[in-house]
Amino acid sequence: MAAGTRAQKPPLLPEKDVAALVKELSGETAKRNLEGIARFHRQRGSQGFHAAAELVAERLRAYGLSDVAILQFPADGKIFYGTQRSRPAWDAEVGELDIMEVRRTIRCGPTAENPNVIADCLDGPIILHENYEAEPVVLAEDSETRRDAVGLLVDIGEGTKESDYTGKDVKDNIVLASAQPGAVQDLAVGKFGAVGIVSYAQNQRTAWWGEDENQIRWEHLDTFSPNKTWAFMVSFKTGRDLRERLVKGQSLFMHAEVKAGQHPGNYEVVTATIPGADAKLKDEEIAFSCHLDHQRPGANDNASGCVTILEVARTLQKLINDGKLARLARTVRFIFPPEIEGTMALLNAKPEFAKRIKAVVHMDMVGGGPETKAVFHVTRGPMSLPSFVHDVAWAFAEWVNEESYQFAATGKADYPMIAPEGGKEPLRAEYSAYTMGSDHDVYQDSSFGIPAIYLNDWPDRYIHTNFDTAANIDPTKLKRAAFIGAASGYFLATLATSGGVDLSLAVIQGRSERVMAMERRVRQLPTSETEALRRVLAQYDGKVSWSLNQFRPRPNSSLQVPGEVQPSVSGQSKTGGDGLLIFSRKVEPRGPLTVFGYDYFAEHAKAAGVATPKLLSYEGLWGSGEEYAYEVLNFADGKRNTQEIRDAASAEYGPVPLELVMEYLTALEKIGAVEQVK
Ligand SMILES: [Zn+2]
Repeated sequence: MAAGTRAQKPPLLPEKDVAALVKELSGETAKRNLEGIARFHRQRGSQGFHAAAELVAERLRAYGLSDVAILQFPADGKIFYGTQRSRPAWDAEVGELDIMEVRRTIRCGPTAENPNVIADCLDGPIILHENYEAEPVVLAEDSETRRDAVGLLVDIGEGTKESDYTGKDVKDNIVLASAQPGAVQDLAVGKFGAVGIVSYAQNQRTAWWGEDENQIRWEHLDTFSPNKTWAFMVSFKTGRDLRERLVKGQSLFMHAEVKAGQHPGNYEVVTATIPGADAKLKDEEIAFSCHLDHQRPGANDNASGCVTILEVARTLQKLINDGKLARLARTVRFIFPPEIEGTMALLNAKPEFAKRIKAVVHMDMVGGGPETKAVFHVTRGPMSLPSFVHDVAWAFAEWVNEESYQFAATGKADYPMIAPEGGKEPLRAEYSAYTMGSDHDVYQDSSFGIPAIYLNDWPDRYIHTNFDTAANIDPTKLKRAAFIGAASGYFLATLATSGGVDLSLAVIQGRSERVMAMERRVRQLPTSETEALRRVLAQYDGKVSWSLNQFRPRPNSSLQVPGEVQPSVSGQSKTGGDGLLIFSRKVEPRGPLTVFGYDYFAEHAKAAGVATPKLLSYEGLWGSGEEYAYEVLNFADGKRNTQEIRDAASAEYGPVPLELVMEYLTALEKIGAVEQVK
């Protein structure tokens, strides 16, 4: 497809609709809302999350949306939402840490409180003071109250294996660890009797990992660990300074005051709609989603996604009110949950949502400016859920790529989509294979089967640190992400037929991207694997085209398409023995088996005495353990045999031995997640 042939004309929608969206969508409005949300420390179920939810609900009402509500789902550590064990709410009031370099011991007292006591007191300069009130990221989530904790600081290196503690005086002292606090608490506190944890764990690995020594990472303890404790996070620079002092033989005395803890609370999910106007289609919904939780400021992750769908809400509602856009056929819904667990609560506790929603536009990190080093992705769904909706989003993104590049290169374009306070860089979005890690995993899990367009930045060198600030957010980027989402959602909400020539063209263009990506993969494979890969791909591609049928108007809104026959592709995998076995996923429990802060598979496998399957630590060419596991379960549809599941997972993440797939499916059968079809 020559770039010049359609560079000026937008795809899929009439140009007047596109022009109206481009004109109305405001990167500045989105960024002002972002600055509001980024003030709050938004932990699941906390007061900060509630404040952010109220802000979003207030905006939605002001913008004139319908059905604005903050839904509440009890979270007490016991209730399950599908595979998600609810995590109790967590709040903190006080979190103060002082570290003193002990220079001498002096006689002190008496004091007002202890008029008769003269004691030995430590004396020396305070070298570090941290305060949750001023900078909430310093106190790890799930820390528990501890009044007046005191002890000496002991360096335990990483702190994740017993040998890290050999010869260390950990009992009744405080450990300094390079690993994340949740990974050391059971050893440091549970086994060796430490009072608390100071950690200088670094954020996710990217090329820029460790370069900025002042970053403080947002962390949490293990929600369900019996070894309750508290943990403070310090920067790498502070951690190194503390280590060097200990090596020099300095005695570091710590005092911590923590008033915080888990308590029964609620997952809160803000939602609102723009009702559809078509008598038959208005019960179907196109949902816009984000996740509203995370540390303060959490600007790109993920105030950005939430304010961008908020801006889509404002814009669609206004343009429809003003008669500049036709009314929607389907209802459009906006959803602002805490990540994964809120979506799990919503779809499990209110199954009518899962039934009505036909497609999702999910945004998680969509505002990263050049400082963050972000690349913007339009991410396809998993291969277990073929859908054309990703091709729709890519058609719009590719057009923004062309227009924004033309503007950057020449200073002229019909639709540069520049925010007045934003950058002028070209968007350069990529159409990417499925990656996991946000709420789109839940929607696209086979128990829900809802295709989700996933718009996301990666890498981001500031993710999950105190430096993920509003200053790095580019209003131009917000505007463009809003446009791609709004145009895709509006198109899907008004799509009432198979979509005609333009949609076919978009799907063909999407296919060419997918085929090119696959050809690059084929070159990495031994010839014994290429036939299966091509066969799986052809099946996948056929089903992408077939997925258009789900948007044909029908007398009822059941997700089944009666009488439709899925495309058959010639050729079969050669197999025998175990490869012929067929497994089918059970209806309950719904959701991925590893969710947020809770691993359904691990807990149930342990209870059933099932050894950890080797698939979970398998490293493939393009994916690894958790990804294979997610898809193997999704592929277990009662039709594919184990060999076909193995071939499909191999096409997606790289060749994997049949035995590993078989072992995992057998483990799933033992924990009751799948059953064998005779
Ligand atoms: Zn996120």
